[in-house]
Amino acid sequence: MAKGIRAKTITWCAALCALIAPSVVTQLANTKRNADLTADIVESSLTVHLRRAEVVIDLAVDALRKADGHNLSRCDDAALARMRRFVLVTAAIKEFSVLNADGSIACGNLGKTSDVIRFGPHFGGADPQVLFYAVRYADNGQLGIRIASQASETRALGVIVPAEWIVPAGLSVRHAAIHGITVSLSDGPVIVNDTQASELLESDRIEVTRTSGRYPISVTVAGSRSAVVREELSLTLLSHLAAIVIGLLGATLIIIQGRRHRDDLLSEMKAALIDREFVPFYQPILDLDTGKLKGCEVLVRWRKPDGTIVPPGAFIDLAERSGFIFPLTLYLMEQAAADLGPVFRARPGLRCGFNLCAEHFRNDHIVADVTKRFTSSTLPLSQLLLEVTERDPLPDVDLARRIIAAFQGMGVRVALDDVGTGHGGMSYLLKLGVDVMKIDKLFVDAISTERYSTAIIDSLIDLAAHMRMEVVAEGVETFEQVEALRRRGVQAAQGFVFAPALPASSFRLLVESMEAVPSIKQGDVFVV
Ligand code: C2E
Ligand code: CA
Ligand code: CA
Repeated sequence: MAKGIRAKTITWCAALCALIAPSVVTQLANTKRNADLTADIVESSLTVHLRRAEVVIDLAVDALRKADGHNLSRCDDAALARMRRFVLVTAAIKEFSVLNADGSIACGNLGKTSDVIRFGPHFGGADPQVLFYAVRYADNGQLGIRIASQASETRALGVIVPAEWIVPAGLSVRHAAIHGITVSLSDGPVIVNDTQASELLESDRIEVTRTSGRYPISVTVAGSRSAVVREELSLTLLSHLAAIVIGLLGATLIIIQGRRHRDDLLSEMKAALIDREFVPFYQPILDLDTGKLKGCEVLVRWRKPDGTIVPPGAFIDLAERSGFIFPLTLYLMEQAAADLGPVFRARPGLRCGFNLCAEHFRNDHIVADVTKRFTSSTLPLSQLLLEVTERDPLPDVDLARRIIAAFQGMGVRVALDDVGTGHGGMSYLLKLGVDVMKIDKLFVDAISTERYSTAIIDSLIDLAAHMRMEVVAEGVETFEQVEALRRRGVQAAQGFVFAPALPASSFRLLVESMEAVPSIKQGDVFVV
């Protein structure tokens, strides 16, 4: 059952990982996606605004070129009329003037005087005849670019492109992620500064500047990553929802897969029981004082048709949890009786031990089952030892006590298995009234290794002596351990130092070679 809990824990951990992993991956992907998305939005906004600025300036420069050759620098009525017409038909320009060498207005569509103030230096574009400089209207502070081309020795023609036509208010290509758009003459005076009030943190900001290849114009666009995150929130939520659904599906699949594997294994085991693939192996138990055989423990093995031997660790937990352990235990009892009945009957001092699990103590059916199997069997009840493991909690300790008493009343001896490792501890030893204490390999190992204290095994042996229980040490692997156990008064042991669990034929040979058949007299009593 402890192994069952471990297997369940692994399945649940795997299911939990499957549940969480898509969300984590989605979160990472979203973070990366949001960063990429911000850069994309900034880039496309920049392209659109620079292109728009170039197109507006194209129109203005085109108007200047068209005006060339019309003698506008003469400032006569015809020239003024033509200037007014240019302004009227050219959407990009607001003012058309003839400029003196000092930059003052000689004449223009708005008259001689204009409240336009020039600021900053002038810049040249691809065409050296055309100059650009920044201007501001004194009355309303509106900004713009004056574009001027030389018309005569002393005069130039100039047009003004208002800033609002380069980045029209309310028409800017704005995504929620765009924080600011700036247009300047090269890296000089700023013509457009369409920036939102709040300052962006450096870590949140993506800013890109690009300069026109034809005109001395630079456009800078700044974007906010967090704004993209907010803007994309619904998409992010959707992706998280999808991740949770995928996670749930994955977790469900893992659990279903675990159950299916369990179901498949169980079906396989049921078929294997019918095909007699489960076989009892027998591990000898020896008397440490005399070196004689005291009996054996039945340990199940699954012999597959291809000859491979599967140890109980691979299936016993499922057998115990699924109830398959009931037919399996009865089958092993029948098989062991058939394997050992004759040799054991001739040696009444030997006992054959069977493992029972906590589930066997849920009700008293096991008493009737054992009685039925062994009453008239070749292996008599008096040669049985039933091992109750304390590794898993007994469902009802009082009922277990009554079942154990019933066995003892039939001449069956009962051992508490794996003592010291499980749930029962002292209380099982005191309450269950068993005859034999099987000390787990864990404590036997402590004897020969200096790393562990021998206090537990010493007190278990003391306790057994006080309660008149026999002690069997399990998992004894060295002669040093045998010696130490013997010195402490332990009567019996099993372990690889003597023999592993053996197939029936080998174990029978061992019994026959170690234990000559005693001459049985009427009334002899054998106690193990
Ligand atoms: P267990 O009842 O404690 O059985 C002793 C285990 O220790 C056996 O493992 C045995 O092969 C192994 N062992 C014996 N001597 C040594 C040794 O010197 N060194 C080491 N390292 N191991 C040793 P096995 O056969 O793999 O059985 C494992 C467990 O499976 C058993 O532990 C028992 O809890 C369970 N089991 C085996 N057969 C049955 C069965 O028929 N019914 C039930 N309910 N459980 C069984
Ligand atoms: Ca056992
Ligand atoms: Ca054991």
